[in-house]
Amino acid sequence: MPSNKSVSEEPIVQFVNCRILREHKLQREDLWVREGTILDPEKLFFDEKGYADEIVDCKGCIVAPGFIDVQINGGYGIDFSQATEDVRGGVSLVAKKILEHGVTSFCPTLVTSPPNIYHKVLPEVRVHNGGREGAGVLGFHLEGPFISPEKKGAHPEKYLHTFQLGGMSDLLDTYGALDNVAMVTLAPELANSQVVIQELAQMGITVSLGHSVANLTQAEEAVQHGASFITHLFNAMLPFHHRDPGIVGLLTSDQIPHDRKVFYGMIADGIHTNPAALRIAHRAHPSGTTTLSGSIATMDMCVRHFKQASGCSVEEALEAASLHPAQLLGISQHKGTLSYGTDADLVLLDDVMNVKATYVSGEEVWRK
Ligand code: ZN
Repeated sequence: MPSNKSVSEEPIVQFVNCRILREHKLQREDLWVREGTILDPEKLFFDEKGYADEIVDCKGCIVAPGFIDVQINGGYGIDFSQATEDVRGGVSLVAKKILEHGVTSFCPTLVTSPPNIYHKVLPEVRVHNGGREGAGVLGFHLEGPFISPEKKGAHPEKYLHTFQLGGMSDLLDTYGALDNVAMVTLAPELANSQVVIQELAQMGITVSLGHSVANLTQAEEAVQHGASFITHLFNAMLPFHHRDPGIVGLLTSDQIPHDRKVFYGMIADGIHTNPAALRIAHRAHPSGTTTLSGSIATMDMCVRHFKQASGCSVEEALEAASLHPAQLLGISQHKGTLSYGTDADLVLLDDVMNVKATYVSGEEVWRK
């Protein structure tokens, strides 16, 4: 028994017979978990003389970080933007259902809505960790209403907004408060948007570009002011043109600050984005980094489709659904990796990436 008093008495779980995604590679290693956190086995053996209280036989499965979806508008008959009487119940239902698709945390997403909807919905659902009851909530993704009428897609035009007051006043007027907000998608060609982008980024809120007719220069300026994401690349933006490639041009822009990365969301469901376009984006390094979003399709399906359509490796497909969204949201010190000390949010998959089991904070929350 450990003699060190500071050592935890909580049970230690050892996942065996698996390949774990670590350092961008699938590695034949065991995974050790205690109190919802991934342990460094060397420390455990040598400092604590610790041993496993429980062994989970993964039967040869891949163990990847739990998937993180930064854009879920609802599903299962629920639309988060239609503020029903029971907003929390709706989010909870979706949070529970997505566990079987390997999603362990997500951003509930609202499309363009009138201010009273934001004022009602946003305070209802706080950022919280997941568990048996469902995937964790990382904060809302607010898609609109500061977007282009020309690229509004399914967003209701009558609720679209410009930045009239300048700075944060417009956002606070519309959204009410930003406490539970993780990401805002806006159109950077709107007047006064750069100040807003800068202030949001300074608050730690991810700024994404989308539903926009921005040219490349406007998009580059937005990134220089702190924008770091492109919402559903290729959809609801100007098509790639060789004289002005627009937002899509950010993928290969030489105007991105060296210490910065632009992530882009892809709806890799085989419908919203042609496989050839998907390959162009994936191969366009170095500025762009793929992040998968489930949207209408399920996340595990998008991972499988992305791998098949882009020809990327299993590791890359899995990281597009875990590491990259975590980096994008600035939470990769806790989530999106299986590094020591991070949250034990895990997905067990077979060789063709069908989800076999899902764990949140080291606890089994779903099994096929
Ligand atoms: Zn959209």
